[in-house]
Amino acid sequence: MFDKILIANRGEIALRVLRACKEMGIKTVAVHSQIDRDLKHVRLADESVCIGPNPSPKSYLNVPAIIAAMEITDSQAVHPGYGFLAENADFAERVQKSGFTFIGPDPDVIRMMGDKVEAIKAMKKAGVPTVPGSDGPLPEDEEECHAIAKRIGYPIIIKAAAGGGGRGMRVVHTEAALISSIRVTQGEAKAAFGDGTVYMEKFLQNPRHVEVQILSDGQGSAIHLGDRDCSLQRRHQKVLEEAPAPGIPQEVREATYAACVKACIDIKYKGAGTFEFLYEDGRFYFIEMNTRIQVEHPVSEMVTGIDLIKEQIRVCSGLPLSIKQSDVIIRGHSFECRINAEDPKTFMPCPGLVKGFHAPGGLGVRVDSHLYNGYSVPPNYDSMIAKIITYGDTREIALNRMRNALDETIVDGIRTNIPLQQMLVRDEAFRQGGVNIHYLEKKLAE
Ligand code: ADP
Repeated sequence: MFDKILIANRGEIALRVLRACKEMGIKTVAVHSQIDRDLKHVRLADESVCIGPNPSPKSYLNVPAIIAAMEITDSQAVHPGYGFLAENADFAERVQKSGFTFIGPDPDVIRMMGDKVEAIKAMKKAGVPTVPGSDGPLPEDEEECHAIAKRIGYPIIIKAAAGGGGRGMRVVHTEAALISSIRVTQGEAKAAFGDGTVYMEKFLQNPRHVEVQILSDGQGSAIHLGDRDCSLQRRHQKVLEEAPAPGIPQEVREATYAACVKACIDIKYKGAGTFEFLYEDGRFYFIEMNTRIQVEHPVSEMVTGIDLIKEQIRVCSGLPLSIKQSDVIIRGHSFECRINAEDPKTFMPCPGLVKGFHAPGGLGVRVDSHLYNGYSVPPNYDSMIAKIITYGDTREIALNRMRNALDETIVDGIRTNIPLQQMLVRDEAFRQGGVNIHYLEKKLAE
């Protein structure tokens, strides 16, 4: 096991990783930008290094500065958290070449999953169900493109192979708009991702977003930790998540889990990962794999009792998985509300001084947050300031606990999206379970 891990992230996830390291008896190194010197995990870490000025390209994305920090602190491994460099294959490679361990899969696996066309190909091979589509990049020939679209059936969606963050996608409803839409998406993809490759998929009209959490040791063992429903989204950003996804027939989910586990073994996946699916009319359709820990991982931890970060660190240190599939028992229900420093109506970020913070508590309530009284939320980074997570034996109990927890929470001095979350947990359709990915935006439009 490692003696010392450098945490190449900030905010709540840096604190989450620090807590796991402390439990495991591993020393921690925090790296931070100038403005982040008073972050909670920086204060709690064994050592800290300022890696640059506030803009992320100069600090949290500054690869030479992070490698240098590993060298001067004699760290053995780096945990990238999520966002920033977490899915950057070149970073993972640089870490390895410098003689350190990247806590995540091998650079080649990150690279393959970062190319959605390649990812879909690998998943199909393992028997993971995918969206009917072009089976590879779209050809130059216009007639061929028309033939592919006709075979799939309109509406279709054109997607950038290198796309991410909900960008580089375009829905096409008619034959007349096909070619111009392909050309525009290719141009955008080239400009945004440096790669103009696009592919085509059937556009599913009312799907839910359901994802499968896996752990894999790259030594022949992989397990799943069930699924999560993350359908409540605004602009493809998740707002409120739960585990397990409500109302999915057991045999359908089991078949999907088995395919995900097989895919992990096939690609020698190492670490924690997530298979994202659209779920419609009782069927799962793979859309992409995330090769990192995710924001919403706590809901899976709550229903399985497994610490995903600790397992991730274990397997990336070269140890085999400490858990068998038969040890994973999904019990009860969990919700997570993302609390953002933003205006609840306009969604404009609202950084500033937190004059007072009162976290909720009680049975089945977990708060993952770096907030404290007198902390100032900087304007430079993501606006998420806390995650409130609840657990209960039933979905209703967990949801009622979330309602109470949100009502108890006080963040004084800045505006947050707590009023939006309070409205959502009281929403009748959401309380029933199983709303689709358009539900939140439709409700907001009303
Ligand atoms: P990104 O990597 O940018 O997040 P994804 O492939 O995960 O891209 O897709 C993001 C979102 O776009 C999905 O959660 C879904 O809302 C929508 N989407 C993507 N593909 C389809 C599809 N074939 N049909 C309907 N919606 C889709």
